[in-house]
Amino acid sequence: MSNTFDLIAIGAGSGGLSVAERAASYGARCAIIEVGKLGGTCVNIGCVPKKIMSNGASLAHALEDARAYGFNVKNEGFTWQTLVDARENYIKGINDWYGGYLSDNKITLIQGSARFVDAHTLEVNGQQYKADHIVIAPGSTPVIPDIPGAELGITSDGYFALRQQPKKVAVIGAGYIAVELAGQLRALGSEVTLCLRGERILKEFDTLLQDVLLQEMRDEGINIVTNLQLQKVERDNTGKITIRCSQNGQQSGFDTLIWATGRRPLVDNLNLSTTGVKQDDNGYILTDEYQNTNIKGIYAVGDVTGRAQLTPVAIAAARRLGDRLFNNQPDRHLDYNNIPTVVFSHPPIGTVGLSEAKARKVYGDQVKVYSTQFTPMYYAFTERRQKTAMKLVVVGKEEKVVGVHIIGHSADEMLQGFAVAVKMGATKADFDNTVAIHPTSSEELVTMR
Ligand code: NDP
Repeated sequence: MSNTFDLIAIGAGSGGLSVAERAASYGARCAIIEVGKLGGTCVNIGCVPKKIMSNGASLAHALEDARAYGFNVKNEGFTWQTLVDARENYIKGINDWYGGYLSDNKITLIQGSARFVDAHTLEVNGQQYKADHIVIAPGSTPVIPDIPGAELGITSDGYFALRQQPKKVAVIGAGYIAVELAGQLRALGSEVTLCLRGERILKEFDTLLQDVLLQEMRDEGINIVTNLQLQKVERDNTGKITIRCSQNGQQSGFDTLIWATGRRPLVDNLNLSTTGVKQDDNGYILTDEYQNTNIKGIYAVGDVTGRAQLTPVAIAAARRLGDRLFNNQPDRHLDYNNIPTVVFSHPPIGTVGLSEAKARKVYGDQVKVYSTQFTPMYYAFTERRQKTAMKLVVVGKEEKVVGVHIIGHSADEMLQGFAVAVKMGATKADFDNTVAIHPTSSEELVTMR
């Protein structure tokens, strides 16, 4: 086997796989270096297992709702292990599929940890590999606060390794991961306390989404504790976990504590200093709009860049990089504006574009807002009710839609098409000129007054 390639990707996650696959399709000789499993965070300890757990949670809700629709069913118990085994089996299938896929595409897989020797040379297990183009795509990993006893908690990685359902769990954090895990654990029957250091969740999102989700989570029975300043974590002599705080006393009696307090780039072992690649203060690799680092021939895609840490963003940026480098498309790059995103909370959130607050910062009093809240027909006579709320943020006389924000039943499946409209520069009049689909929740988005 030659140790010289046209392109080497570090990391077989969404970004690394996509750039190598695209480059290989143009005849480039490609290799991927991976220390763990094929598929990276998304497949193994992120989007895929999370969505499966979330589907389980939705089924638990549906079983409850079914009685109102005349079904004589009762949730007579849930076996965590059954769901986890099925989930892991499914993921193993994806891992195996990727193995075949790499060899079908003539991409060399090098298993081990990559370390730069110079800007065009990497070392793995004592062997050196060279390429004109090296793409850094190792992803990110959870961060844990530096407080005494923090090791008593697990992160999302540990959550996906749980072989037993936590009975009473504390989730610390207010971002995507915190609200997603809290929601699914609660729906599956765990007692859940969500600990916020401030008062709000998802603080980059439109306040309508924050407020409605917080209320819906409370209504689902999640205990939400705000303004917690964590001091230390302890295990008592019955094995239970206590969180001690500098204000607000303590929270105790947990069998599991989950840190959902952000992520950091996985760059520790890369020996980046030898290349001169620039990083920001948090270690994220700085890239321009073409995914170039400051060093010629070295690029970065995905979570390691710290920009929109979402699988489809990594894939889109990586494919465009492959097109640019190996298919003579010098301008090909990802436009990072108007990236749609879904939070698989219960209920889910779908959002694209600017929040009202961000729009007002940019456009001042040119901003106008249309919003609505209602109970979807699905919940017309169920015991469990979840609200749907929507907001359109529009700008200027022509009322260009710069933000679409949805929370509620099926918001996750509603957003994609509206994201196309926003990306194309649609106006409120374009929305209104589209005939509604009845009866749906999404029709509200084209009939708002
Ligand atoms: P986020 O960056 O979204 O949120 C981190 C959270 O941790 C913040 O809410 C912050 O609180 C809180 N926090 C940080 N330090 C502390 C502390 N010491 N005590 C209490 N709370 C603390 O990180 P996540 O880990 O949730 O997710 C990482 C990224 O992964 C996301 O930004 C997203 O890009 C991606 N992701 C996407 C998903 C999807 O597409 N559905 C799902 C999961 C992850 P505060 O807000 O108060 O500052």
